[in-house]
Amino acid sequence: MQPYLFPYIIIIIRVFFKEIFIMRTAVLYGKEDIRIEDRPVPEPGPGQMLVKIDYVGICGTDIEFYKLGQTPTPLPKILGHENSGTIVKLGEGVTDFQVGQRVLCGPPAHCKENCSPCKEGKTNICIHGFPRTAGIGMPDGGYAEYLLIEDVAHTMIIPVPENVKMEDAVLFDVICVALHGIRMSRFKLGDSVVVSGMGPVGLSAVQFLKAGGANKIIALDVTDRKKEAALAYGADYFLNSATEPDIAASIREILGSDVGADIVYECSGHPASVETCVLKAVKPGGQVMLIGTVQQPITFTLGTAQIFEIDFQSSFVYLQEEVEMYLQMLAAGKIAFPGMVTDIVSLDNCQEQGLGRKDRASQLKILIAPDK
Ligand SMILES: [Zn+2]
Ligand SMILES: [Zn+2]
Repeated sequence: MQPYLFPYIIIIIRVFFKEIFIMRTAVLYGKEDIRIEDRPVPEPGPGQMLVKIDYVGICGTDIEFYKLGQTPTPLPKILGHENSGTIVKLGEGVTDFQVGQRVLCGPPAHCKENCSPCKEGKTNICIHGFPRTAGIGMPDGGYAEYLLIEDVAHTMIIPVPENVKMEDAVLFDVICVALHGIRMSRFKLGDSVVVSGMGPVGLSAVQFLKAGGANKIIALDVTDRKKEAALAYGADYFLNSATEPDIAASIREILGSDVGADIVYECSGHPASVETCVLKAVKPGGQVMLIGTVQQPITFTLGTAQIFEIDFQSSFVYLQEEVEMYLQMLAAGKIAFPGMVTDIVSLDNCQEQGLGRKDRASQLKILIAPDK
């Protein structure tokens, strides 16, 4: 071979091997500090699999981690727990899946130890769940070109039906939070409900309640920008809880009653919204379902609600069977979430146009497409 060809051959080899062995990742190092790094593509060992990420959702939880510079386990870490992709490699002993299969990869499934909640089928409240969830606990998540599933047998991996688009399927993490919360509530056909917080979870709740035969659905939010989406998703009324002079009176007037709604779904996680739900929106003896995770202290006097026997119920994430339900309903065209994805950004831009985005309040779901 001619010696002058050597440098060209080396460049070709580098480009070729880089594609195979090196992947792009977005790594959280601290408060508002995301760095784009090239890392080796992980090799799946026994009981593991490698998934090429199609889309990964930016969750509200990720934004909290990014703002605080903290996650349940030490940094640096690759975030991303709302993962969708295609299986590219199976480790030894993994026989339930095939290369080329499109899947969703969510939180852990049934734990190895078979803890008490897992024994009862409540894997969403597994005592080992959080630290083992990729992108939240120890394992790295899907803000990367590839995701290693470290323990296939104990991870929620769900095949995506052929006629479901990945950009719809990847919404499972928000939509199934709403689905689980409603299934956990005592909702009955004909109930009148209030849903507070018109982010992706609240909008999904509105759609499921409409599909489930709610009588009157009143949506609340602190900005009128959410009104159009709330009504489009099935709310009968929209009230701005920040500007409405007497929200309790407005709700009663809509319901044509001297009391509030049968069930109130809190979907924002904001203390002021919790207070509105508990003290102003629910009827005596009614239920308040806490779906949004509240990260700040609540300061109202509980006795004010106790004297009306308000039923408090909380709900957290979802079960594998609910994700399967969601995909089946999507495939059958029974539900649809148009406009839920408001932007798709690249890994390189996931900080500026995603986690740290200035106009976040006007966005619903932002996805990262590592291939973009
Ligand atoms: Zn999430
Ligand atoms: Zn468990």
